[in-house]
Amino acid sequence: MIHDERVVILNKPSENGKYVLLWIQQSQRTRYNHALEFAVNQANALKLPLFACFVITDGFPNANLRHYTFMFEGLENLKLNLKQRGINLLFRYGNPPEEVVSLGKNAEMIVMDRGYLRVQKQWRREVGRTAPCTVVQVESDAVVPVETASTKEEFAAYTIRPKINRQLDKFLVPLEQRELKIKDFMPDFESCVPDITKLNIDRSVSPVKSFTGGEDEAAKLLGIFIDEKLDDYDKLRNDPTKDAQSGLSPYIHFGNISPLETTLAVKDHPASASFLEELIVRRELAMNMVNFNAEYDNMKHLHPWAANTLNEHVKDVRTYIYTYEELENAETHDEAWNAAQREMRSTGKMHGYMRMYWGKKIIEWTETPEEAYRTAISLNDKYSLDGRDPNGFAGVLWCFGKHDRPWQERAIFGKVRYMNFAGLKRKFDVESYISKFKA
Ligand SMILES: Cc1cc2nc3c(=O)[nH]c(=O)nc-3n(C[C@H](O)[C@H](O)[C@H](O)COP(=O)(O)OP(=O)(O)OC[C@H]3O[C@@H](n4cnc5c(N)ncnc54)[C@H](O)[C@@H]3O)c2cc1C
Repeated sequence: MIHDERVVILNKPSENGKYVLLWIQQSQRTRYNHALEFAVNQANALKLPLFACFVITDGFPNANLRHYTFMFEGLENLKLNLKQRGINLLFRYGNPPEEVVSLGKNAEMIVMDRGYLRVQKQWRREVGRTAPCTVVQVESDAVVPVETASTKEEFAAYTIRPKINRQLDKFLVPLEQRELKIKDFMPDFESCVPDITKLNIDRSVSPVKSFTGGEDEAAKLLGIFIDEKLDDYDKLRNDPTKDAQSGLSPYIHFGNISPLETTLAVKDHPASASFLEELIVRRELAMNMVNFNAEYDNMKHLHPWAANTLNEHVKDVRTYIYTYEELENAETHDEAWNAAQREMRSTGKMHGYMRMYWGKKIIEWTETPEEAYRTAISLNDKYSLDGRDPNGFAGVLWCFGKHDRPWQERAIFGKVRYMNFAGLKRKFDVESYISKFKA
């Protein structure tokens, strides 16, 4: 079922459109893709053929070779899976809105998925403004559509949780796959072969072997998580020496797996509550922040208690100060922090618990909170496959007090929550973690 709340229609008269075009950008998958199923429905109802396109741009902010490699693996998988449903996927290079509008010049309708970052919103606005036909945006990456959960920026998890929970039953419904009636339509446009060597991108960050992109791989990981890890998720998820988390965040980021499908797959499991708290409440709190706050990628919208307390302590003596390069190269006195930085650099993902510690220490070891913020965002986005995501913007800001509450006042942090090495030692075998990611 596709709820009306997922759909935004920009009606425009089109003259004898010859096909329906599905522009895939955020939801890079065939399973549980509401935009895809909506497009299939429309094509069937209009008795028109359907094709899909993906526009490859080297202008996506802060994406480098590591991210593109993962995405290209997923796109290959997407093309094959769409083909099995009788839908051709065309690849184009260039500026996404321009290419989409050009491919849509004889369309009756353009259907597109939804993204929440600034650039994703800009592209969709541009398509809506310049396309010669009806344009429909279909949200498929939130369990409860963001504006349905709340119409304003939420303060913290405790304020959004009841709002999401009230809507959950309504949105926790399966999405049936529709059979396309006119299959294998090949439009009269050229499709290029995705070739990473053609892109003018930052190649300094190497691809990783730990994760292979694509919806088939994501489905496999979800299966392993349910069969082997979910039982102990609550107990072990904060122990970075155990492989107890799902590992799904890169796949969720690239739209290779649907949070709704994931939720439906785990929800009847007796141990799913804390996993669903992360997957739905925490993640959709981050989406809420990015959607309602144009300043999501800077520190300006920290709540006054957090901004003020950090400011009051800006002149506090810092025992250790590290440059960006020293942090990037994991050259601090703290071997646990260095291990976390190396984990991110070498695997493309840092354990969730270490991410909190990692961000907090950057605040302690840089001259100002602003410098700490820029450093943390930059390193996270550069090396994490799941970086450049609402979760990353909210996660880094959480280290500065966003979505949190005041704690006992102390140096540098003021009332912002603090974490220390002794705390790590109480939680898990730190030496074992350090030895996993030795220099
Ligand atoms: C400083 C910092 C930076 C972070 N940067 C990112 C980032 O760039 N991208 C990213 O996806 N997450 C980020 N997080 C949130 C969290 O650490 C990761 O989502 C999680 O570790 C991903 O691993 P997983 O998929 O194995 O998680 P699991 O524990 O298996 O959780 C399943 C899913 O729930 C969601 N989730 C889990 N924890 C959180 C959380 N705290 N907030 C929001 N959603 C959550 C994610 O979508 C995750 O894939 C950051 C957190 C911090 C403190």
